[in-house]
Amino acid sequence: MTNETPRRTFAIISHPDAGKTTLTEKLLLLGGGIRSAGTVKGKKSGKFATSDWMEIEKQRGISVTSSVMQLIYNDIQINILDTPGHEDFSEDTYRTLTAVDTAVMVIDSVKGIEAQTLKLFKVCRMRGIPILTFINKLDREGKEPLDLLAEIEEVLEMETYPMNWPIGMGKTLRGIYSIPDEKIELYNDSHEREIVPYSEQKVLQSFEKEKLEEDIMLLEEAGNEFTMEKVQNGQLTPVFFGSALSSFGVQSFLDNFVKLAAEPQPRKASGELVDPDSDTFTGFIFKIQANMNPNHRDRIAFFRVCSGKFERGMEVMLSRTGKKMKLSQSHSFFASDRETVDTAMPGDIIGLYDSGNFEVGDTLVSGNERIVYEEMPQFPPERFAKIMAKNALKHKQYHKGLSQLVQEGTIQLYKTPYFEDFIIGAVGELQFQVFEYRMKNEYNVDIEFTHLTHELARWVTKGEVTDKMLDSRKMHVHDQQGRSVILFENEFTLRYFQDKYPDLGLSTGWELL
Ligand code: GDP
Repeated sequence: MTNETPRRTFAIISHPDAGKTTLTEKLLLLGGGIRSAGTVKGKKSGKFATSDWMEIEKQRGISVTSSVMQLIYNDIQINILDTPGHEDFSEDTYRTLTAVDTAVMVIDSVKGIEAQTLKLFKVCRMRGIPILTFINKLDREGKEPLDLLAEIEEVLEMETYPMNWPIGMGKTLRGIYSIPDEKIELYNDSHEREIVPYSEQKVLQSFEKEKLEEDIMLLEEAGNEFTMEKVQNGQLTPVFFGSALSSFGVQSFLDNFVKLAAEPQPRKASGELVDPDSDTFTGFIFKIQANMNPNHRDRIAFFRVCSGKFERGMEVMLSRTGKKMKLSQSHSFFASDRETVDTAMPGDIIGLYDSGNFEVGDTLVSGNERIVYEEMPQFPPERFAKIMAKNALKHKQYHKGLSQLVQEGTIQLYKTPYFEDFIIGAVGELQFQVFEYRMKNEYNVDIEFTHLTHELARWVTKGEVTDKMLDSRKMHVHDQQGRSVILFENEFTLRYFQDKYPDLGLSTGWELL
């Protein structure tokens, strides 16, 4: 690959078990991925990437890291950012989506849209990036294709446009009909691709033909109009059906992906769009990972190149402080090891060695203009715990560790108004575990957790919170910026509260950004 090779950078959004890993592996195989299939997720392959750095990971046999994979296909370099799910779900999963230009939504045809897909989808929607949909597990008896499209349209409020259409499913799966070129790809057990023009096929039985023609007619009459513009701004999702496990429909998905995915996009910094072609090197840090090497306690900042060219050893400025530094240690994250990367282009992700200078959201630039990329959004936490240092004498280390880990974006911090109790918030349980581990290992402080039953945070945008509004189910706290936040036990308590105090303005926090 060369620097001139065009880039496409994407992440998969899906619910656990929809088939993200399987699809990723198949894509890597097709594209001669630098990371070989079978190493995408340690848990299933039995292999562990070197990114499995932390004790927690070793114990649980999972990869906390959202790593980066690359493949070259049709002379395009495709960067895939892994989005950890399951128990690994954390703010890093969301933050990863700020570093991509396209999302691929994988949906299990049996289950339809599931909770985690919806959460991740909202982040993509907020960013207005193109979303391509792969409806997986066509080899199983799933929902009716038309119902699946209707579900996407209703739940996600996004137009759909099928690029291919299933002929049968589960045991009766015969193939997929490619709508633009009127060909069918036949389903077989051998994983060999067999594509024939629809007009020449001799395999479909008359009832299969009738059903297909009826569906296609319906789609032509009632379907949406396809435009690249609608795809590019996330208003319409091209939909592909297939089966990742059987490698069925994966190549045609990839053929279309390279045509439909967005190239590295201009991004807003200091109120203006920065063109990727600009000579100035710019980019931002979307994730910091500590202790990649437990012996050295080093930290790696994941950096998205947005414009210009990265060259190892170059001098850059950290916009937040104005401090200049040399980027001499830079890595890419493929294969089973970190490799030094000498150059990188817009769309690429590199790992920068960090001795404690960086924060999540930081902008780095070449030259002297202190431009700043838009702030990293704070994602609505869903888990909360009151914390204390077990040993009160360690309050100094406790405060130091807490403030550093909050700054790094490991955890969100809130305080109660009178007693100033510390409440930490996270989008996933893993963040608590990482926080606990790092407080102990890096600051030598044992933390006592009291888990709260609250699951929702709402920022107060209008009116005053008074004591009489609160009880054990609703807790008033302040965030790091001193804004009022109410923590609710569940949707029900929230709705009840809103009915009772309609004049109090509440927001999920995202709108404040
Ligand atoms: P992830 O959690 O989204 O990464 O999902 P995986 O790729 O690990 O897949 C979850 C399970 O679904 C595994 O047992 C896969 O073998 C299975 N699976 C993935 N794709 C397909 C498919 O196309 N058809 C069927 N029947 N199973 C699949």
